[in-house]
Amino acid sequence: MGKLNLQTVIDPDSGFCFGVVEAINKAEHAIEQGNELFCLGEIVHNDEEVSRLSKRGMKTINHQELGNLKNKTILFRAHGEHPKSYKTAIDNSNKIIDASCPIIKKLQQKVKTSYHNNEFIIIFGKPDHPEVIALNGQVDDKALIVEKIDDININSIPDKITIYSQTTQSIEKFYEIVDYLKQANKDITVKDTICRRVSNRHPRLQKFCRMYSKVIFVGGKRSSNAKVLFDVCSKENTNAYFISRPEEIHPEWFSEGEIVGISGATSTPHWLMEKVSDFIKTL
Ligand code: SF4
Repeated sequence: MGKLNLQTVIDPDSGFCFGVVEAINKAEHAIEQGNELFCLGEIVHNDEEVSRLSKRGMKTINHQELGNLKNKTILFRAHGEHPKSYKTAIDNSNKIIDASCPIIKKLQQKVKTSYHNNEFIIIFGKPDHPEVIALNGQVDDKALIVEKIDDININSIPDKITIYSQTTQSIEKFYEIVDYLKQANKDITVKDTICRRVSNRHPRLQKFCRMYSKVIFVGGKRSSNAKVLFDVCSKENTNAYFISRPEEIHPEWFSEGEIVGISGATSTPHWLMEKVSDFIKTL
């Protein structure tokens, strides 16, 4: 195959949301201050960014390893943490750098208030997602976590319900669940807590995807936000491809002289999209 002479355009709306930017800034600041820094869980669901920070000295630990750390500096990432993590870290005299996103902190407070008001709480989200685990922690792990309608046993839940959402979930799916509960005659208080930094991107991303014959979407395999946004891309453009690293790109995807649109999740660093762009131009 000869040279394809491709051009690229990076979606100006893509890249880290401010919650993630703040967390990374806090991590870099702590490293620069000479701290031996431990991050509880991946700072962002993006292997490339985690590896960049690890080369600068940040170590990523899991929740089991947290119990073994004493007198260290530990960063809690933007997703927020379960109260148990705070207790474990403090009991062992560690210093916490709390990088929980302010939007998530507020959401945690709201869920807590609902709980203290004895409301029955449903959280729409992924049960194993760190943000959802941390949210449920605010209510003694008593919320019902629902990812899809089938997760609800309608006859076993009370008639009065308050429903919240994980911040990076899809608005359409959230309201499908809300409608289902309404049709089942539940008295439901809807707390639409989907982060508009993410959902506001949908219409702009749709427009971006329609502008190019091929779209490369860059995201981490474990990022919820990347999955939701890639869904948006692939509905708009049947030639949209999900990749995590430039090496996953196949030259056969492109035709000579095309202009390729590149977009990414709120957990995708801008430098990685630049790298993807440079790679495509070499094809
Ligand atoms: S997506 Fe929104 S809520 Fe989540 S970390 Fe980013 S700014 Fe915060």
